[in-house]
Amino acid sequence: LYIPVNIYNGYFKMDNIMPNIIKDIVFDGTLYHLWYLPASMAGAVISWHLVKKHGYKKALAISAAFYVAGLCGDSYYGIAAKIPVLKDFYSLIFQVSGYTRNGIFFAPVFFVLGGFISDSRRKVAFSKSIIYFVISFVLMLAEGMLLHYFKIQRHDSMYIFLLPCMYFLFNILLHIEGKRFKNIRTASLVIYIIHPLVIVLVRLSAKLLHIQGLLIENSIVHYFAVCLLSVITGIAAAVLLNKKLVKTKYDTKTARAYIEIDLKSLEHNVKVLKLAMPPNCELMAVVKAQAYGHGAFEVSVHLNKIGIRAFAVATADEGIKLRKYGIVGEILVLGYTDVARAYELSKYGLTQTIIDAGYANALNRQGVSIKCHIKIDTGMHRLGADYRDIWNIEKIFTMKNIKVCGMFTHLCCADSTKPGDVLFTKNQIGKFYNLVSALEEDGIKVPKLHIQSSYGFLNYPGLKCSYVRAGIALYGVLSSPYDSTLLKPDLHPVLSLKSKVILIRQVMKGESVGYGRDFKAERDSLVAIVPAGYGDGFPRSLSCGRGSVLINQCRVPVIGRICMDQLAIDITDVGDVTVGTPVTLVCAEEDSRLSAPYVADSYGSISNELLCRMGARLPVIVKYGS
Ligand SMILES: *Cc1c(COP(=O)(O)O)cnc(C)c1O
Repeated sequence: LYIPVNIYNGYFKMDNIMPNIIKDIVFDGTLYHLWYLPASMAGAVISWHLVKKHGYKKALAISAAFYVAGLCGDSYYGIAAKIPVLKDFYSLIFQVSGYTRNGIFFAPVFFVLGGFISDSRRKVAFSKSIIYFVISFVLMLAEGMLLHYFKIQRHDSMYIFLLPCMYFLFNILLHIEGKRFKNIRTASLVIYIIHPLVIVLVRLSAKLLHIQGLLIENSIVHYFAVCLLSVITGIAAAVLLNKKLVKTKYDTKTARAYIEIDLKSLEHNVKVLKLAMPPNCELMAVVKAQAYGHGAFEVSVHLNKIGIRAFAVATADEGIKLRKYGIVGEILVLGYTDVARAYELSKYGLTQTIIDAGYANALNRQGVSIKCHIKIDTGMHRLGADYRDIWNIEKIFTMKNIKVCGMFTHLCCADSTKPGDVLFTKNQIGKFYNLVSALEEDGIKVPKLHIQSSYGFLNYPGLKCSYVRAGIALYGVLSSPYDSTLLKPDLHPVLSLKSKVILIRQVMKGESVGYGRDFKAERDSLVAIVPAGYGDGFPRSLSCGRGSVLINQCRVPVIGRICMDQLAIDITDVGDVTVGTPVTLVCAEEDSRLSAPYVADSYGSISNELLCRMGARLPVIVKYGS
């Protein structure tokens, strides 16, 4: 875009063209304010590594120190230049970069600050943020005018009070939780890229129209002209680029059947589980199989937002999807991933479970460094290296491409309170910790350890691990309605399965409904058709009265066989049913016969299976409280 402008400017005729091109590409930008592009790239990389390596506090200190160094080469240069050592230092820097306002001195502190505010749970209140922002802004203005007055500046981009200004501005912005407008993202990118060109065009037209006095020398008019033209171009480009896709309209009125999840209940469960966990133990949210049918996107994005930084999935593809949703933090793949996909694991920053020593060997040979948790088999005999195979387990710790960050085992009967099962479970736990001690004795630095899934935690809450891998409990239900656990936290079910009546018909005594004529009316009946079936995860084995649904506060039986996409209910005894009347198939109340554990139990399954099968076709609609 800017090559023609640069040719016109005579850029390519200058001496020392190569070093200058590199300088412009890496630091200064190829025209006007295009410095921002290389600066934001370098700044993002630097701050990312600082935070990853040192955490926020140190990263803030380091990037702030760089900013101060930048200040002295920018608006405070007049002072710094009086000190010979500093003068030499900056003249060295200015050979490489035209200004200190670049990706090294300027950008990192703002990236780190933004991440810090966004990730920390304590935000400055909205009204306070505004007041402090205004104060900092006024101070920054004063600072700028003072520096101007004493002619101290070399360049006027960096101010001390810019930091508090941005700190409070970030806080204000985080309080304004707007919608996502796709066009705004594109528009702002286009505005940024196009505005130097607009500056050139405005100047050109001013010259052609002989109004330089108004359009160029009056800097306010110049500024607004450039702004206005850039914004108009940006919006027009965005609208053209994001040609309207036809939007699917899902809401509680238009959906034929839908999953409703209550994020407030999800938050509540997180809070309750965390409260019961020992200090320094982190909640690892298990979001495999579409977050147990609740919607992987809706659930994990919200959990991430409220501070959950560890997730577990079953497959690499589920993990990659989470990254594409923007999930940050640890994502552990609990299941098998073909070693040929090592590059993807590394690219998306996924942590892979080592399912046995042979697998570790094969993964190591892929030549890509991978974060891993070693799974230990202590009695389930599914995945994991044998707990007795210390020699091979220790070898995994020495493998060049396997970065062992964790080690875990899985309990196979933690849900049972039978004495034999409790003994077996305690044995599993003992075997795991014996292995840990053996490794420690051999001088191996013990990584993060975890053992408990939901039942493991609820029945053995005393274990002091780095993580609890909570799945079903996070969604506010137990697997079966008759389970009793040692810890009985007040969990709230998150999901309801809802649909509506789309058709009502009269069926005379002796007539049948549905496939196989399995239902025969014993009286003249009123039958409603509900557009949800086993294709939506409502099990076919609930056919012929084994299942029921809720309509106008009445529980009525499913009649006939459940089809892939529809089912029929008997509404003869229910008043006030019309087309459109809501129907609840699984409800989010704890003790209801239509809660997931009871519904699952009525066809011989567990809520885990019932819930996760709903993830296939149904849209997810989110609510927050009632
Ligand atoms: C699915 C799974 C979990 C979560 O189990 P819940 O009982 O739903 O809490 C934990 N760990 C492993 C290894 C799993 O596969």
